[in-house]
Amino acid sequence: MNSENLIEVPKQAPGVVYLIGAGPGDPGLLTIRGKEALERADAVVYDRLAHPSLLDYARPDAERIYVGKASANHAMKQPDINATIVRLALEGKTVARLKGGDPLVFGRGGEEAECCREHGVPFEFVPGVTSAIAAGTYAGIPITHRDAASSFAVITGHEREDDASRSQAGAAEGRRNWARLAWAADTLVFLMGVENLQEITSRLIENGRLPETPVGVVQWGTWPGQRVVTGTLASIVDVVKTNGITSPAVCIVGEVVALREKLRWFDDPSIRPLFGKKVLVTRAREQASALSSALRSLGAEPLEFPAIKIVPDRPYEALKPALVQLGSYAWLVFTSANAVTCFAEALQQSGLDSRALFHARIAAIGPATAAAVSSVLNILPDYVPTEAVAEAVLAGWPDTDMSGKSVLMPRASEAREVLPEGLRALGATVDVIAVYTTILDGSGAAQLIELLNDGELDALTFTSSSTVTNFIQSIGSPTTEELKKLIGGSVIISIGPITSATLRENGLEPDVSAYDHTIPGVVAALKAHFAPE
Ligand code: SAH
Repeated sequence: MNSENLIEVPKQAPGVVYLIGAGPGDPGLLTIRGKEALERADAVVYDRLAHPSLLDYARPDAERIYVGKASANHAMKQPDINATIVRLALEGKTVARLKGGDPLVFGRGGEEAECCREHGVPFEFVPGVTSAIAAGTYAGIPITHRDAASSFAVITGHEREDDASRSQAGAAEGRRNWARLAWAADTLVFLMGVENLQEITSRLIENGRLPETPVGVVQWGTWPGQRVVTGTLASIVDVVKTNGITSPAVCIVGEVVALREKLRWFDDPSIRPLFGKKVLVTRAREQASALSSALRSLGAEPLEFPAIKIVPDRPYEALKPALVQLGSYAWLVFTSANAVTCFAEALQQSGLDSRALFHARIAAIGPATAAAVSSVLNILPDYVPTEAVAEAVLAGWPDTDMSGKSVLMPRASEAREVLPEGLRALGATVDVIAVYTTILDGSGAAQLIELLNDGELDALTFTSSSTVTNFIQSIGSPTTEELKKLIGGSVIISIGPITSATLRENGLEPDVSAYDHTIPGVVAALKAHFAPE
């Protein structure tokens, strides 16, 4: 592609180019303005250092163009990136150009904007949180501190990175005035510096910075895989080498680095006990978020594999016969929050509300189901068994005289028969009505197999029997031996006895079973396993 191509694009009002700082990695560090621009975009042009989940803010039909570059191998050269952005804008598209950190801190956002200007394309800058500051922040290294540093400088670890200027690189190095740089500020932050760390540290020492000056190197700052090493100007090259720290990393030189000991938080096990753990979350996508966000707040990286997806089974049609004789049911039994939602939907569609249930007693199996009954139906359940397993539910059943009574049980199409049969044994008539189905969602199966093969997952969580069977089916139903090999050392966490039984039927022994058969119970089990108190 060259700049002549651009002029041939049909004339129409060009779209706006937003040069957006994506922040250093943690998706929560994108600005609100940046998010708005992404939502508006017809095309998103993004880099390696922008978190991939930020693309979810773009419309599903927006074009997504990856121009990422690893320091040595450019996926797309800068002039081609400039040309791509301008071409899209000249086609009338709103372009979100998503760049790691801040677009103007060694981000070449200036060059991209200049190119827009040359071609009459309007642009806006959206500042971002720069890694130069945030990587330190997430490592517990403040860039300034009253007692340790009253100024900072952000310096590139190598002068020019594009091929065209390679020939001038020697001259550029010559131009660098190390005597001035060494004393530019109390805290010196080097970006793109790991490869040149030897050169940087020697020059600083040559120019009078003490060899014992503290130095911290933060790799993948703010990402779940953040790694931090510390040393001194004299030792850091060896420390970095020994620990295999590579780009992207920032290198912070100055007394502030010593504060990490006190200010460490992101990777501090006493604050975020699951830091660095990759945990497979197998619930349906709609339900995974509660578990995922709990895990995230403890520092873990949840990987959602939507092994099951919940599809309502025309609950209104299915429940119609029951709804016309609602008054005849002595009990309504809900075994899942999904059943409650589907039931509420049917109730609403038939023009009724919770008052139609005034004479029935309501059982809610499991705390999440009970929570749904009170939030969705605005009813306090009459019976919430302490243990959410059919046998225990029956053992504690509060109505001693069930004979001749009718029970309505809306639930999943495939479920255990123990509860309805147990109630029938007590003399009740039980209408079991399927209102939703859990189906296998195969998206991401290949990626999951890769993660398992590479031993990347620290733990696998299973929150129902169907998550177990679906997980196994989705990875191609391997033999027990293959399955065990694939899972390797990953810790298996089960929500409770029924799920554990299903795991065992498939030849897998759960390492931990949750004490409380709930999502918080699963989180507590993970914590107890990885960070016992
Ligand atoms: N515009 C970006 C910097 C781009 S230059 C910003 O403001 O952050 C690329 C360099 O930034 C990398 O070589 C590395 O030194 C640094 N960098 C970017 N993201 C980083 C991260 N999450 N952790 C550590 N260093 C990072």
